[in-house]
Amino acid sequence: MTHVIAEPCIGTKDTSCVEVCPVDCIHPTNEEGEFDAADQLYIDPETCIDCGLCVDECPVQAIFPEEDLPDEWQKYIQINADWYAEE
Ligand code: SF4
Repeated sequence: MTHVIAEPCIGTKDTSCVEVCPVDCIHPTNEEGEFDAADQLYIDPETCIDCGLCVDECPVQAIFPEEDLPDEWQKYIQINADWYAEE
């Protein structure tokens, strides 16, 4: 399982989550070149260890455990994974 960043991140990209992630699996960070062009931040499902630390850091409550993702945001599971598949 993984955690997933959903729609509230679009246009927000707060990056507080990046600072607490123990395995550095949330990108792009605001120090990476893709940051400005990215719609939102994404969690790498292959690396996320489901620690949950990022959830409470997010000021717009955009991050969910995959199993708790609201129905209307299910597509974000693929959207997060796709960001890493394209690299
Ligand atoms: Fe990183 Fe933990 Fe959040 Fe996964 S749940 S993205 S490992 S902080």
